[in-house]
Amino acid sequence: MDCCTTSSCSCCESSYIKASSQTCPICKHQGMLVKNFTVKHIVLDEYLSQVGSNDYFLCTNPECDVGYYQGEKLFYKQQLKVPIWLKKDANPKYVCYCGKVTEDDIMEAVLKKGAKTLSEVCKITGAMKDCKCEINNPTGKCCADIVKEAFEKAVKIRKETRDCLN
Ligand SMILES: [Zn+2]
Repeated sequence: MDCCTTSSCSCCESSYIKASSQTCPICKHQGMLVKNFTVKHIVLDEYLSQVGSNDYFLCTNPECDVGYYQGEKLFYKQQLKVPIWLKKDANPKYVCYCGKVTEDDIMEAVLKKGAKTLSEVCKITGAMKDCKCEINNPTGKCCADIVKEAFEKAVKIRKETRDCLN
């Protein structure tokens, strides 16, 4: 029996509820599940012993100072090795953590260096070249979507700038 497609199954249901109902203890915002080994790579070494062996949630509220939380335990963004890109004051704002490529780098590649495609952007900036997003990106997810988003934002700005000149 495939337990994930039957509604009577309690194992998937309970883990699903657990995953979706843990909101940030500080701001009550929805969290994003992040694997334990990702968290271990992202927290500063001095807090490593406090991480334990459970998975964590990442607070996705840009205004909130909380990075990871799990039950009563939490790590503020100041306790992490890298800024979380989705927080409003992330500086630098990395789009690709593996290549240490920032949103500004993508902008520059498109607006000043004339990159026209995503692969040209990656070539110029070094983004998505040597991907170990699972341990480098605080969300533990691949940076491809964020890089693409930054690229599209840059293309839009380039288009608007041209429209203004004409
Ligand atoms: Zn929060």
